[in-house]
Amino acid sequence: MDASMYKPETSAADIKSLFGFGDGLGPNKVIHVHEDSIGLDGVLVVDNVAAGPSIGGLRMAPDVTTEECYRLARAMTLKNAAAGLPHGGGKSVIKADPRMPATKKETLVRAFACALRGVEDYIFGPDMGTNELCMGWVRDEIGRSVGLPRAVGGIPLDDLGATGWGLHHAVKTALDFVDMKLDGARVVVQGFGAVGYHAARFLKGDGAKLIAASDSQGGIRNDEGLDVAALHAFKQTGKSVAEFDGGTPLDRDDLIAVPCDIWVPAARPDVITADNVDRLEARLVAQGANIPVTLEAERRLHERNILSLPDFIANAGGVICAAMEWHEASESAAFQAIEDKITLNVREVLERATTSGELPRDAAVTMAQDRVRAAMNTRRWRTFY
Ligand code: NAD
Repeated sequence: MDASMYKPETSAADIKSLFGFGDGLGPNKVIHVHEDSIGLDGVLVVDNVAAGPSIGGLRMAPDVTTEECYRLARAMTLKNAAAGLPHGGGKSVIKADPRMPATKKETLVRAFACALRGVEDYIFGPDMGTNELCMGWVRDEIGRSVGLPRAVGGIPLDDLGATGWGLHHAVKTALDFVDMKLDGARVVVQGFGAVGYHAARFLKGDGAKLIAASDSQGGIRNDEGLDVAALHAFKQTGKSVAEFDGGTPLDRDDLIAVPCDIWVPAARPDVITADNVDRLEARLVAQGANIPVTLEAERRLHERNILSLPDFIANAGGVICAAMEWHEASESAAFQAIEDKITLNVREVLERATTSGELPRDAAVTMAQDRVRAAMNTRRWRTFY
């Protein structure tokens, strides 16, 4: 691929002033990649690499922005530090419709990887709109990706449900803090994809029931409990959950108002906002998606006594699994690490928040930032790798 694709456009200083971050943690670098001949428009943000080379997903969506990429990269810095991984945080995005023909998608992903060949402090992982196969293409081009297919030595984290497994342990740990049992608990999942499906599957395994779910096309509701396996099999045929005949169709954006015990956002950022937060009727919000709740909405949830588990603590299963894969651990060791790390972190965050009365997110950010700064203190160049 042509070296001209490697085109820095926005400086770290611009980003800092644009998004108001002056905390010295990052970003380390922001790179825009364009190759007009194939319609490639992408961004990489490497936020902080004090603990080691950054790991973060490659997202493909038509509406992704540099700001979203930056916020997601910062979330990865905090997530990886909170999880005690020897990795910093980064994120990359390609602005495109992930449902494009497979050959075009392969061209874009391979080209983007080639353009970033020299950025050795970023390791690609899967995210919305990309999967294990995409990571296989990246590995084939530049040898630097995780979340690989099993056929090339990977632990297929989305097929196995690494993030859903971690989310399930986050919920189990949080039960003590909301005085609730999983047996019979009503669960609502927004975004019945890799994270949402597996979270529902593991929670159901402990006696909870999925009473509503959605995808980008619509929603489905059944207060007696949806058949999680059948719904997943149906969705695998390419149809929307809204067409499933085991429940009543629901408008996608009305999912937030379905009364439940546990509401799991597992789709897009900023889905719970000041405008709709008061429609939510749940006791626990388990953030499977990245940055699904705005800060204002997070405060309102706290006021309403709805416990909200911060994304970068509760959904760290995928990156813990990916880091274990990078370090050549076995699948069972990876799943054990997810359970151990998430259980410990959720308990620590909720104990801190209970003691101080602050938002769980604020307690989690303080805990993670302390860990990032501790890593930076071991380095000669505090943000460079
Ligand atoms: P996915 O592509 O497998 O599934 C996403 C699902 O969300 C799809 O079913 C899609 O139709 C649906 N969706 C999109 N827009 C929607 C909307 N407006 N309303 C309802 N549903 C909508 O993606 P995923 O891997 O499950 O990731 C979901 C979220 O979790 C993302 O925010 C991702 O960044 C985050 N996350 C994923 C992992 C992981 O291991 N896969 C780890 C941590 C965080």
